[in-house]
Amino acid sequence: MLVLVFAALADLADLALPQRCLGCATRGPRLCETCLTPVPARRMPRPAPADLPECWSAADYTGTVREAIVAYKERGQTTLARPLATALAFTACHALASTAVGPVGPVALAVVPVPSAPRALRSRGHDPVGRLAALAVRQLAAFGHRAELWPALGQARQVGDQAGLSATQRAANLAASLRVTPAAKARPAAAVLLVDDIVTTGSTLAEATRTLRVHGVDVLLAVTVAATRRRSCNPLRSH
Ligand SMILES: [Zn+2]
Repeated sequence: MLVLVFAALADLADLALPQRCLGCATRGPRLCETCLTPVPARRMPRPAPADLPECWSAADYTGTVREAIVAYKERGQTTLARPLATALAFTACHALASTAVGPVGPVALAVVPVPSAPRALRSRGHDPVGRLAALAVRQLAAFGHRAELWPALGQARQVGDQAGLSATQRAANLAASLRVTPAAKARPAAAVLLVDDIVTTGSTLAEATRTLRVHGVDVLLAVTVAATRRRSCNPLRSH
C-alpha cells in the first residue's frame, strides 16, 4: 500500500512541476521524441545464454536513454514511464512483424514483466518494470494488438547483486530464483512476451524463460527498453 501511495504522490509531484526534457532541456515532456527515438533491433547478448529467446530492444543503454532509465528506476521519476513504455511497445510491434519471430499482423499477447526483488521494490518505492509492462499493454492495444498484462513471475528467493558478475556467475546467482505466481494458473491463449528495462548478459531473461517453460509456457520473445553494448546487433533496416 505504501508503495502505491508513494507512486501516486510521485506522479502528482511530476505533474505539478514544470517539465524539461532530461536529455536536451527543452520545455515539454520529461523525455522528448528527439532524445528517445526508438531504433528497434534484435540486440542479443554475446555470448547469449541457453534458453534466451529472441531479444529485441529499443536503444543502446548509453547517453540519455541510460540516464532516463536510471532516473526512472532509481530516482522515482515516474513521468519517464510513458515514453519508455512507448518505446518498448513500438519495439515489440517491430519484433512481431519481423520474419525472424514469425507472426505477422495483430496477435494476442500476454505481457510478462520480469519481477523485481521485494527488497528493490521497497527501496525504490515503485515497481519500474511492472509499470512499464502495464503501460506497454495499453500502447500495444493502440498499435492494434490484443495484449494483456500477465504477472506470471515472482521472486522465489533473494538473489545477490548482479553488478560486476560475469555471465556465468550471473546465471549461477539467478538459478531457481524465480517462481510462477498464482496469476499464472490462468494460462492465456496468447503469445508470451517477456519485458524488462535493460538486457545485459541475458541471464535474467533466460531464467524467466526457463521458469515459464517448466510451467508449460513458451516465451515468444523478450523486449527491453535498452541493451548494453556487450552483444551482437542486427538492426532492422526495412523500417
Ligand atoms: Zn530532448
